[in-house]
Amino acid sequence: RTIPNTPTIPFIAGDGVGAEIWAASQPVFDAAIEKAYGDEKKIFWQEILAGEKAFEETGSWLPDHTLDAIEQAKVALKGPLTTPVGGGIRSLNVTLRQTLDLFACVRPVRYFEGVPSPVKEPEKTDMVIFRENTEDVYAGIEFAKGEAETQQLIQLLQEQFAVKNIRFPETSAIGIKPVSEEGSKRLIGAAIDFAIAQKRPTVTLVHKGNIMKFTEGGFKLWGYELAETTYKDTCFTMNQYQAIKQTEGVATADAALNEAKAQGKIIVNDVIADNFLQQILLYPEKYDVIATCNLNGDYISDALAAQVGGIGIAPGGNINYNTGYAIFEATHGTAPDIAGQGKANPSSLLLSGGMLLEYLGWQEAADLITNAIEEAIRTKKVTSDFAHAMDDAVELSTQEFGSLLVS
Ligand code: NAD
Repeated sequence: RTIPNTPTIPFIAGDGVGAEIWAASQPVFDAAIEKAYGDEKKIFWQEILAGEKAFEETGSWLPDHTLDAIEQAKVALKGPLTTPVGGGIRSLNVTLRQTLDLFACVRPVRYFEGVPSPVKEPEKTDMVIFRENTEDVYAGIEFAKGEAETQQLIQLLQEQFAVKNIRFPETSAIGIKPVSEEGSKRLIGAAIDFAIAQKRPTVTLVHKGNIMKFTEGGFKLWGYELAETTYKDTCFTMNQYQAIKQTEGVATADAALNEAKAQGKIIVNDVIADNFLQQILLYPEKYDVIATCNLNGDYISDALAAQVGGIGIAPGGNINYNTGYAIFEATHGTAPDIAGQGKANPSSLLLSGGMLLEYLGWQEAADLITNAIEEAIRTKKVTSDFAHAMDDAVELSTQEFGSLLVS
Protein backbone atom coordinates (compact mmCIF):
# COMPACT_ATOMS: atom_id res chain seq x y z
CA ARG A 1 0.00 0.00 0.00
CA THR A 2 1.13 3.54 -0.66
CA ILE A 3 0.28 5.81 2.23
CA PRO A 4 0.13 9.53 1.43
CA ASN A 5 2.08 11.80 3.75
CA THR A 6 -1.04 13.82 4.59
CA PRO A 7 -3.93 11.32 4.73
CA THR A 8 -7.47 12.24 5.75
CA ILE A 9 -8.48 9.80 8.48
CA PRO A 10 -12.02 9.59 9.83
CA PHE A 11 -12.67 9.30 13.55
CA ILE A 12 -15.73 8.49 15.64
CA ALA A 13 -15.31 10.22 19.01
CA GLY A 14 -17.94 7.95 20.52
CA ASP A 15 -20.53 8.14 23.28
CA GLY A 16 -20.16 8.62 27.04
CA VAL A 17 -16.51 9.40 27.79
CA GLY A 18 -15.77 9.34 24.03
CA ALA A 19 -15.72 13.11 23.51
CA GLU A 20 -13.39 13.66 26.50
CA ILE A 21 -10.87 10.99 25.57
CA TRP A 22 -10.86 12.14 21.94
CA ALA A 23 -10.27 15.80 22.93
CA ALA A 24 -7.33 14.72 25.11
CA SER A 25 -5.89 12.35 22.50
CA GLN A 26 -5.96 14.21 19.19
CA PRO A 27 -3.31 16.80 20.24
CA VAL A 28 -1.09 13.89 21.34
CA PHE A 29 -1.33 12.21 17.91
CA ASP A 30 -0.60 15.48 16.12
CA ALA A 31 2.32 16.34 18.40
CA ALA A 32 3.86 12.85 18.03
CA ILE A 33 3.64 13.04 14.23
CA GLU A 34 5.15 16.53 14.18
CA LYS A 35 7.96 15.51 16.52
CA ALA A 36 8.73 12.40 14.47
CA TYR A 37 8.45 13.87 10.96
CA GLY A 38 8.28 17.69 11.20
CA ASP A 39 6.24 19.14 8.31
CA GLU A 40 6.68 16.05 6.19
CA LYS A 41 3.65 14.14 7.55
CA LYS A 42 0.30 15.16 9.00
CA ILE A 43 -3.11 13.59 9.51
CA PHE A 44 -6.25 15.53 8.60
CA TRP A 45 -8.84 14.20 11.06
CA GLN A 46 -12.40 14.01 9.74
CA GLU A 47 -15.19 13.56 12.27
CA ILE A 48 -17.81 10.99 11.33
CA LEU A 49 -20.79 9.94 13.43
CA ALA A 50 -22.09 6.70 14.90
CA GLY A 51 -23.99 5.77 18.04
CA GLU A 52 -26.07 8.14 20.14
CA LYS A 53 -24.62 11.31 18.64
CA ALA A 54 -25.40 10.04 15.14
CA PHE A 55 -28.93 9.08 16.17
CA GLU A 56 -29.60 12.52 17.66
CA GLU A 57 -28.23 14.39 14.65
CA THR A 58 -29.33 12.16 11.76
CA GLY A 59 -31.94 9.71 13.07
CA SER A 60 -29.65 6.80 12.20
CA TRP A 61 -27.30 4.93 14.57
CA LEU A 62 -24.88 4.22 11.75
CA PRO A 63 -25.36 6.66 8.84
CA ASP A 64 -24.33 5.58 5.31
CA HIS A 65 -21.98 8.52 5.18
CA THR A 66 -19.97 7.04 8.04
CA LEU A 67 -19.43 3.75 6.25
CA ASP A 68 -18.64 5.58 2.98
CA ALA A 69 -15.97 7.69 4.71
CA ILE A 70 -14.32 4.63 6.26
CA GLU A 71 -14.42 2.77 2.95
CA GLN A 72 -12.79 5.71 1.22
CA ALA A 73 -10.04 6.22 3.80
CA LYS A 74 -9.70 2.45 4.49
CA VAL A 75 -8.71 3.19 8.09
CA ALA A 76 -10.48 4.87 11.00
CA LEU A 77 -10.15 5.46 14.72
CA LYS A 78 -13.07 4.98 17.05
CA GLY A 79 -14.11 5.68 20.63
CA PRO A 80 -16.69 3.60 22.51
CA LEU A 81 -20.29 3.39 21.33
CA THR A 82 -23.43 2.76 23.33
CA THR A 83 -25.01 -0.49 22.24
CA PRO A 84 -28.65 0.37 21.50
CA VAL A 85 -31.00 -1.70 23.65
CA GLY A 86 -34.06 -3.32 22.03
CA GLY A 87 -35.74 -2.23 18.81
CA GLY A 88 -33.97 -4.95 16.82
CA ILE A 89 -30.81 -2.82 16.42
CA ARG A 90 -27.63 -4.88 16.50
CA SER A 91 -24.41 -3.89 18.20
CA LEU A 92 -22.83 -1.14 16.10
CA ASN A 93 -19.38 -2.59 16.68
CA VAL A 94 -20.44 -5.99 15.38
CA THR A 95 -22.18 -4.32 12.40
CA LEU A 96 -19.05 -2.33 11.49
CA ARG A 97 -16.86 -5.43 11.77
CA GLN A 98 -19.18 -7.53 9.64
CA THR A 99 -19.97 -4.89 7.00
CA LEU A 100 -16.27 -4.25 6.34
CA ASP A 101 -15.37 -7.92 6.92
CA LEU A 102 -12.75 -6.94 9.51
CA PHE A 103 -11.88 -10.54 10.24
CA ALA A 104 -9.07 -10.08 12.78
CA CYS A 105 -9.57 -8.40 16.13
CA VAL A 106 -6.02 -7.71 17.27
CA ARG A 107 -5.44 -6.97 20.94
CA PRO A 108 -1.89 -6.53 22.24
CA VAL A 109 -1.68 -7.15 25.99
CA ARG A 110 1.43 -5.96 27.80
CA TYR A 111 2.28 -4.51 31.15
CA PHE A 112 3.21 -0.87 31.77
CA GLU A 113 5.49 -0.64 34.79
CA GLY A 114 3.64 0.82 37.77
CA VAL A 115 0.08 0.04 36.66
CA PRO A 116 -1.87 -1.46 39.57
CA SER A 117 -2.42 -5.14 38.72
CA PRO A 118 -4.14 -8.01 40.56
CA VAL A 119 -1.30 -10.47 39.86
CA LYS A 120 2.16 -10.77 41.43
CA GLU A 121 4.30 -10.63 38.30
CA PRO A 122 2.27 -8.79 35.67
CA GLU A 123 5.41 -8.02 33.65
CA LYS A 124 5.49 -11.68 32.57
CA THR A 125 2.38 -11.13 30.43
CA ASP A 126 3.17 -9.99 26.91
CA MET A 127 0.81 -11.41 24.29
CA VAL A 128 -0.98 -10.39 21.13
CA ILE A 129 -4.43 -11.90 20.66
CA PHE A 130 -5.83 -12.55 17.18
CA ARG A 131 -9.55 -13.12 17.64
CA GLU A 132 -11.68 -14.22 14.68
CA ASN A 133 -14.18 -11.42 14.28
CA THR A 134 -16.91 -12.45 11.85
CA GLU A 135 -18.02 -16.02 12.62
CA ASP A 136 -18.91 -18.23 15.59
CA VAL A 137 -21.97 -17.55 17.74
CA TYR A 138 -21.29 -13.84 17.16
CA ALA A 139 -22.60 -14.22 13.60
CA GLY A 140 -25.91 -13.42 15.30
CA ILE A 141 -27.90 -16.37 13.94
CA GLU A 142 -30.34 -16.93 16.78
CA PHE A 143 -33.87 -18.24 17.13
CA ALA A 144 -35.99 -17.05 20.04
CA LYS A 145 -37.87 -19.23 22.49
CA GLY A 146 -41.40 -20.12 21.39
CA GLU A 147 -41.15 -18.71 17.84
CA ALA A 148 -42.61 -20.82 15.03
CA GLU A 149 -39.21 -20.82 13.26
CA THR A 150 -37.53 -22.20 16.36
CA GLN A 151 -40.06 -25.03 16.59
CA GLN A 152 -39.57 -25.80 12.89
CA LEU A 153 -35.83 -25.89 13.38
CA ILE A 154 -36.13 -28.26 16.33
CA GLN A 155 -38.40 -30.52 14.30
CA LEU A 156 -35.98 -30.46 11.38
CA LEU A 157 -33.04 -31.33 13.60
CA GLN A 158 -34.88 -34.16 15.27
CA GLU A 159 -36.58 -35.67 12.23
CA GLN A 160 -34.33 -34.96 9.28
CA PHE A 161 -30.92 -34.79 10.91
CA ALA A 162 -31.74 -37.42 13.50
CA VAL A 163 -30.42 -35.34 16.38
CA LYS A 164 -31.59 -37.71 19.08
CA ASN A 165 -31.09 -38.03 22.80
CA ILE A 166 -30.83 -34.30 23.17
CA ARG A 167 -33.28 -32.43 25.31
CA PHE A 168 -35.10 -29.80 23.30
CA PRO A 169 -37.70 -28.44 25.72
CA GLU A 170 -40.34 -26.16 24.22
CA THR A 171 -38.64 -23.26 25.97
CA SER A 172 -35.41 -23.74 23.97
CA ALA A 173 -33.81 -20.81 22.20
CA ILE A 174 -31.22 -21.78 19.60
CA GLY A 175 -27.98 -20.18 18.43
CA ILE A 176 -25.93 -21.29 15.44
CA LYS A 177 -22.14 -21.44 15.48
CA PRO A 178 -20.63 -21.23 11.99
CA VAL A 179 -16.85 -21.73 11.88
CA SER A 180 -15.39 -22.12 8.39
CA GLU A 181 -12.07 -23.43 7.11
CA GLU A 182 -11.56 -20.28 5.05
CA GLY A 183 -12.44 -17.97 7.96
CA SER A 184 -10.19 -19.84 10.37
CA LYS A 185 -7.25 -20.04 7.99
CA ARG A 186 -7.23 -16.34 7.11
CA LEU A 187 -7.23 -15.43 10.82
CA ILE A 188 -4.55 -17.96 11.78
CA GLY A 189 -2.48 -16.93 8.74
CA ALA A 190 -2.60 -13.31 9.94
CA ALA A 191 -1.42 -14.41 13.40
CA ILE A 192 1.47 -16.41 11.91
CA ASP A 193 2.47 -13.52 9.60
CA PHE A 194 2.50 -11.23 12.62
CA ALA A 195 4.63 -13.66 14.66
CA ILE A 196 7.13 -13.94 11.79
CA ALA A 197 7.31 -10.15 11.31
CA GLN A 198 7.69 -9.46 15.03
CA LYS A 199 10.05 -12.38 15.67
CA ARG A 200 7.73 -13.95 18.24
CA PRO A 201 8.56 -17.64 18.82
CA THR A 202 5.10 -19.12 19.44
CA VAL A 203 1.60 -19.09 17.95
CA THR A 204 -0.99 -20.84 20.12
CA LEU A 205 -4.37 -21.96 18.79
CA VAL A 206 -6.89 -21.70 21.65
CA HIS A 207 -10.04 -23.78 21.14
CA LYS A 208 -12.69 -26.05 22.67
CA GLY A 209 -12.24 -28.73 20.02
CA ASN A 210 -12.52 -31.48 22.61
CA ILE A 211 -16.23 -30.67 22.94
CA MET A 212 -17.14 -28.83 19.71
CA LYS A 213 -15.33 -31.19 17.39
CA PHE A 214 -16.31 -29.84 13.98
CA THR A 215 -16.31 -26.10 14.72
CA GLU A 216 -13.51 -25.46 17.21
CA GLY A 217 -11.90 -28.82 16.45
CA GLY A 218 -11.91 -27.70 12.81
CA PHE A 219 -10.25 -24.43 13.81
CA LYS A 220 -7.36 -26.36 15.37
CA LEU A 221 -7.11 -28.87 12.49
CA TRP A 222 -7.11 -26.16 9.80
CA GLY A 223 -4.58 -24.12 11.77
CA TYR A 224 -2.13 -27.03 11.87
CA GLU A 225 -2.81 -27.77 8.20
CA LEU A 226 -2.01 -24.19 7.24
CA ALA A 227 1.16 -24.11 9.33
CA GLU A 228 2.34 -27.42 7.87
CA THR A 229 1.69 -26.50 4.22
CA THR A 230 1.66 -22.77 3.38
CA TYR A 231 4.04 -21.94 6.25
CA LYS A 232 6.14 -25.12 6.22
CA ASP A 233 9.37 -23.18 5.77
CA THR A 234 8.76 -20.94 8.78
CA CYS A 235 6.62 -23.03 11.15
CA PHE A 236 7.02 -26.30 13.03
CA THR A 237 3.93 -27.64 14.77
CA MET A 238 3.23 -29.46 18.00
CA ASN A 239 1.37 -31.94 15.80
CA GLN A 240 4.50 -32.73 13.82
CA TYR A 241 6.55 -33.00 16.99
CA GLN A 242 4.13 -35.47 18.53
CA ALA A 243 4.06 -37.55 15.36
CA ILE A 244 7.87 -37.72 15.19
CA LYS A 245 8.42 -38.40 18.87
CA GLN A 246 5.31 -40.50 19.42
CA THR A 247 4.39 -38.40 22.45
CA GLU A 248 1.39 -36.44 23.56
CA GLY A 249 0.43 -33.71 25.96
CA VAL A 250 1.57 -30.50 27.57
CA ALA A 251 4.80 -32.02 28.93
CA THR A 252 6.17 -32.06 25.40
CA ALA A 253 5.39 -28.39 24.75
CA ASP A 254 8.81 -27.11 25.89
CA ALA A 255 10.65 -29.82 23.99
CA ALA A 256 8.66 -29.01 20.84
CA LEU A 257 9.47 -25.32 21.23
CA ASN A 258 13.18 -26.15 21.56
CA GLU A 259 13.01 -28.30 18.46
CA ALA A 260 11.33 -25.45 16.53
CA LYS A 261 14.03 -23.03 17.72
CA ALA A 262 16.75 -25.47 16.66
CA GLN A 263 15.16 -25.50 13.19
CA GLY A 264 14.99 -21.67 13.20
CA LYS A 265 11.19 -21.84 13.04
CA ILE A 266 8.14 -20.67 14.94
CA ILE A 267 6.26 -23.29 16.95
CA VAL A 268 2.53 -23.52 16.34
CA ASN A 269 0.85 -25.31 19.24
CA ASP A 270 -2.64 -25.51 20.71
CA VAL A 271 -4.35 -25.46 24.06
CA ILE A 272 -7.92 -26.03 25.19
CA ALA A 273 -9.61 -22.76 26.13
CA ASP A 274 -10.49 -23.52 29.77
CA ASN A 275 -6.97 -24.79 30.43
CA PHE A 276 -5.63 -21.67 28.72
CA LEU A 277 -7.39 -19.44 31.26
CA GLN A 278 -5.49 -21.27 34.03
CA GLN A 279 -2.22 -21.24 32.09
CA ILE A 280 -2.21 -17.48 31.56
CA LEU A 281 -2.39 -16.95 35.31
CA LEU A 282 0.20 -19.63 36.13
CA TYR A 283 2.66 -19.42 33.21
CA PRO A 284 1.90 -16.31 31.15
CA GLU A 285 5.50 -16.18 29.91
CA LYS A 286 4.88 -19.32 27.81
CA TYR A 287 2.41 -17.55 25.52
CA ASP A 288 3.03 -15.06 22.78
CA VAL A 289 0.70 -14.80 19.81
CA ILE A 290 -2.76 -16.27 20.34
CA ALA A 291 -5.22 -17.23 17.58
CA THR A 292 -8.74 -18.10 18.62
CA CYS A 293 -12.42 -18.19 17.68
CA ASN A 294 -14.69 -15.21 18.29
CA LEU A 295 -16.34 -15.96 21.64
CA ASN A 296 -13.19 -17.39 23.29
CA GLY A 297 -11.33 -14.33 22.05
CA ASP A 298 -13.82 -12.00 23.67
CA TYR A 299 -13.39 -13.59 27.10
CA ILE A 300 -9.64 -14.03 26.80
CA SER A 301 -9.01 -10.43 25.68
CA ASP A 302 -10.75 -8.92 28.69
CA ALA A 303 -9.30 -11.45 31.16
CA LEU A 304 -5.77 -10.77 29.93
CA ALA A 305 -6.28 -7.01 29.89
CA ALA A 306 -7.45 -7.13 33.51
CA GLN A 307 -4.45 -9.30 34.44
CA VAL A 308 -2.06 -6.46 33.54
CA GLY A 309 -4.36 -3.88 35.14
CA GLY A 310 -5.04 -2.52 31.72
CA ILE A 311 -8.81 -2.43 31.24
CA GLY A 312 -8.53 1.38 30.75
CA ILE A 313 -5.37 1.18 28.62
CA ALA A 314 -5.90 -1.89 26.42
CA PRO A 315 -5.82 -0.96 22.72
CA GLY A 316 -7.32 -2.85 19.82
CA GLY A 317 -7.68 -2.99 16.06
CA ASN A 318 -10.14 -4.70 13.73
CA ILE A 319 -8.38 -5.49 10.50
CA ASN A 320 -8.94 -7.14 7.13
CA TYR A 321 -5.39 -7.84 5.97
CA ASN A 322 -6.61 -8.66 2.44
CA THR A 323 -8.57 -5.48 1.66
CA GLY A 324 -6.57 -3.24 4.01
CA TYR A 325 -9.67 -1.96 5.83
CA ALA A 326 -9.00 -1.36 9.51
CA ILE A 327 -10.73 0.30 12.45
CA PHE A 328 -8.68 0.89 15.57
CA GLU A 329 -10.64 1.41 18.77
CA ALA A 330 -10.60 2.00 22.49
CA THR A 331 -11.57 -1.41 23.84
CA HIS A 332 -13.51 -0.21 26.89
CA GLY A 333 -17.15 0.91 26.84
CA THR A 334 -18.71 4.35 27.22
CA ALA A 335 -18.14 4.35 31.03
CA PRO A 336 -21.46 6.12 31.76
CA ASP A 337 -20.63 6.17 35.50
CA ILE A 338 -17.76 8.64 34.98
CA ALA A 339 -18.78 10.38 31.72
CA GLY A 340 -18.47 14.17 31.77
CA GLN A 341 -16.31 14.21 34.92
CA GLY A 342 -12.84 14.37 33.36
CA LYS A 343 -11.91 11.08 35.07
CA ALA A 344 -11.56 8.78 32.07
CA ASN A 345 -8.18 7.40 31.15
CA PRO A 346 -7.53 8.21 27.46
CA SER A 347 -4.68 5.66 27.14
CA SER A 348 -6.74 2.97 25.42
CA LEU A 349 -7.67 5.38 22.62
CA LEU A 350 -4.12 6.78 22.55
CA LEU A 351 -2.54 3.34 22.16
CA SER A 352 -5.16 2.35 19.57
CA GLY A 353 -4.17 5.50 17.66
CA GLY A 354 -0.58 4.28 18.05
CA MET A 355 -1.60 0.98 16.43
CA LEU A 356 -3.15 2.96 13.57
CA LEU A 357 0.09 4.92 13.10
CA GLU A 358 2.04 1.64 13.09
CA TYR A 359 -0.38 0.28 10.48
CA LEU A 360 0.40 3.33 8.31
CA GLY A 361 4.08 2.51 8.79
CA TRP A 362 4.62 5.55 11.04
CA GLN A 363 6.37 3.55 13.74
CA GLU A 364 8.42 6.44 15.13
CA ALA A 365 5.29 8.44 15.99
CA ALA A 366 3.65 5.36 17.51
CA ASP A 367 6.72 4.75 19.70
CA LEU A 368 6.68 8.34 20.95
CA ILE A 369 3.11 7.86 22.21
CA THR A 370 3.86 4.55 23.94
CA ASN A 371 7.01 5.99 25.54
CA ALA A 372 5.19 9.08 26.78
CA ILE A 373 2.46 6.95 28.42
CA GLU A 374 5.10 4.69 29.96
CA GLU A 375 6.94 7.70 31.39
CA ALA A 376 3.74 9.27 32.80
CA ILE A 377 2.79 6.04 34.58
CA ARG A 378 6.32 5.43 35.85
CA THR A 379 6.37 8.93 37.36
CA LYS A 380 2.88 8.34 38.81
CA LYS A 381 1.14 11.13 36.91
CA VAL A 382 -2.07 9.32 36.10
CA THR A 383 -5.85 9.55 35.80
CA SER A 384 -8.09 8.66 38.74
CA ASP A 385 -8.56 4.98 37.82
CA PHE A 386 -4.83 4.37 38.50
CA ALA A 387 -4.28 7.13 41.05
CA HIS A 388 -6.64 5.46 43.53
CA ALA A 389 -4.58 2.29 43.58
CA MET A 390 -1.09 3.86 43.62
CA ASP A 391 0.80 5.38 46.56
CA ASP A 392 1.81 9.04 46.14
CA ALA A 393 0.26 9.41 42.70
CA VAL A 394 -0.55 12.78 41.19
CA GLU A 395 -4.13 12.56 39.93
CA LEU A 396 -4.67 14.24 36.57
CA SER A 397 -7.87 14.90 34.65
CA THR A 398 -8.34 13.33 31.22
CA GLN A 399 -7.33 16.60 29.55
CA GLU A 400 -4.36 17.20 31.86
CA PHE A 401 -3.07 13.72 31.14
CA GLY A 402 -3.23 14.44 27.39
CA SER A 403 -1.46 17.80 27.88
CA LEU A 404 1.28 16.13 29.94
CA LEU A 405 2.00 13.73 27.09
CA VAL A 406 2.16 16.59 24.57
CA SER A 407 4.69 18.43 26.70
P1 NAD B 1 -17.46 0.08 30.40
O1 NAD B 1 -16.17 -0.36 29.82
O2 NAD B 1 -18.06 1.30 29.82
O3 NAD B 1 -17.27 0.33 31.98
C1 NAD B 1 -16.81 -0.67 32.90
C2 NAD B 1 -16.06 0.01 34.06
O4 NAD B 1 -14.76 0.44 33.58
C3 NAD B 1 -16.77 1.25 34.59
O5 NAD B 1 -16.59 1.32 35.97
C4 NAD B 1 -16.03 2.39 33.92
O6 NAD B 1 -16.04 3.60 34.65
C5 NAD B 1 -14.62 1.84 33.78
N1 NAD B 1 -13.94 2.42 32.60
C6 NAD B 1 -14.20 2.14 31.31
N2 NAD B 1 -13.41 2.87 30.51
C7 NAD B 1 -12.63 3.63 31.31
C8 NAD B 1 -11.61 4.59 31.07
N3 NAD B 1 -11.20 4.93 29.84
N4 NAD B 1 -11.03 5.19 32.15
C9 NAD B 1 -11.39 4.85 33.40
N5 NAD B 1 -12.35 3.96 33.70
C10 NAD B 1 -12.97 3.34 32.67
O7 NAD B 1 -18.48 -1.15 30.30
P2 NAD B 1 -20.07 -1.20 30.51
O8 NAD B 1 -20.45 -0.30 31.64
O9 NAD B 1 -20.38 -2.62 30.56
O10 NAD B 1 -20.69 -0.63 29.16
C11 NAD B 1 -21.23 0.68 29.00
C12 NAD B 1 -21.70 0.86 27.54
O11 NAD B 1 -20.58 0.73 26.65
C13 NAD B 1 -22.73 -0.16 27.06
O12 NAD B 1 -23.66 0.49 26.22
C14 NAD B 1 -21.90 -1.14 26.26
O13 NAD B 1 -22.68 -1.82 25.31
C15 NAD B 1 -20.91 -0.22 25.63
N6 NAD B 1 -19.64 -0.86 25.21
C16 NAD B 1 -19.09 -0.42 24.07
C17 NAD B 1 -17.87 -0.94 23.65
C18 NAD B 1 -17.26 -0.42 22.39
O14 NAD B 1 -17.79 0.49 21.79
N7 NAD B 1 -16.14 -0.96 21.93
C19 NAD B 1 -17.21 -1.91 24.42
C20 NAD B 1 -17.79 -2.33 25.62
C21 NAD B 1 -19.03 -1.78 26.01
